[in-house]
Amino acid sequence: MTPNDLTLATKLVHAGEIRPGVLGAVSLPIFQSAMFEYAGAEHYHDIKYIRLNNTPNHAVLHAKLAALENAEAALVAASGMAAITTAVLSVLSAGDRILAQESLYGGTHDFFTKHLAAFGIACDFLDIDDPASWAARVRPETKAVYVETISNPMMQVPDLEAVVRFAKAHGLVSMIDNTFATPVNFRPSEHGFDLSFHSVTKYLNGHSDIVGGAVIGRADLVGAALLKLDTLGGSMDPHACFLLRRGLMTLDLRVRRQNESALRIARFLAGHPAVARVNYPGLESHPGHARAARLFDGFGGMLSFEMKGGVEAAERFMKAVRLPIIAPSLGGVETLMTRPATTSHLGMSPEDRKRIGITDGLIRLSVGIEAVEDLLADFAQVLESLNR
Ligand code: PLP
Repeated sequence: MTPNDLTLATKLVHAGEIRPGVLGAVSLPIFQSAMFEYAGAEHYHDIKYIRLNNTPNHAVLHAKLAALENAEAALVAASGMAAITTAVLSVLSAGDRILAQESLYGGTHDFFTKHLAAFGIACDFLDIDDPASWAARVRPETKAVYVETISNPMMQVPDLEAVVRFAKAHGLVSMIDNTFATPVNFRPSEHGFDLSFHSVTKYLNGHSDIVGGAVIGRADLVGAALLKLDTLGGSMDPHACFLLRRGLMTLDLRVRRQNESALRIARFLAGHPAVARVNYPGLESHPGHARAARLFDGFGGMLSFEMKGGVEAAERFMKAVRLPIIAPSLGGVETLMTRPATTSHLGMSPEDRKRIGITDGLIRLSVGIEAVEDLLADFAQVLESLNR
């Protein structure tokens, strides 16, 4: 049996593990040692040192994460943004351009629009709904294309197969932020993407207690990103590695539950008279539903919606619900709720938010692993009281 023959739930537990365990330990201990004794390394990057991201805690995660997406290689980083910025800067140099979907996580959008220019790199946005228009955006300096599997917070599902075809036709490195989908629902390497990114702060760790990131994909590109990471210094701390490995063990169980619960909640909200609009790829009304149904093993635990009463109704709803915690971020075991205009996308200009469809009243919901009946009862009772 090769690692790729195993199902994801088994890989989560066994892939990449050191067996037999260190001194017989069933769980991988934390190697809380900044450096390791010199063992004859011939290259700087082989010297064992936490910043070089190569302690046993890192190595196990790198092998496990690559196995989860059926990719050649992976690395962990200090945050999702460390993973994204480091990898993008390892692919692009001064004079290059990147093409991107416009509806992106706010931090990534900020990096592309406000920070890349200082490195001599330019970003052009694609009309993601119109693949026929993409070729005209390619210039000789264009080197990469960047999308999100399910975009934050509008839950757009780009034509991912068209993105890969487009990248291959124009010799671009294809990059995708797979945070919202998770490897349980979508594995970018299987569809030809070169690099996939995760904020492991979210589902992969799943317990809202660390910040971390991952780069997964082609060995040459992950290798280049690792060399850049060694220099920029965004490596993952061994204690965070330990928590991430533990969180990963239950990823399959958590995400399956979250897929099911989010679908039920999305259907409930979509059918409620107080709700104006629900964005969830599992709903037949979602423009990318057919594509998501074909490409994904589940529609994910994230949805966003708007109340009929706009921002005031959104505020009243968020104040009145009992179970969801009002906090940014997502992907934890607890249901979290936020208004992106005030948190994740606050750094974006109001005009940019408006163009993408992020109204002030838009509520983003990260469905946790609580019993869905309790969540539905909570929402129903609040919506009834607001409707009165
Ligand atoms: N990508 C997505 C889709 C996100 O939602 C986030 C954070 O919210 C990030 C990347 C950045 O991750 P981190 O906060 O771990 O740096």
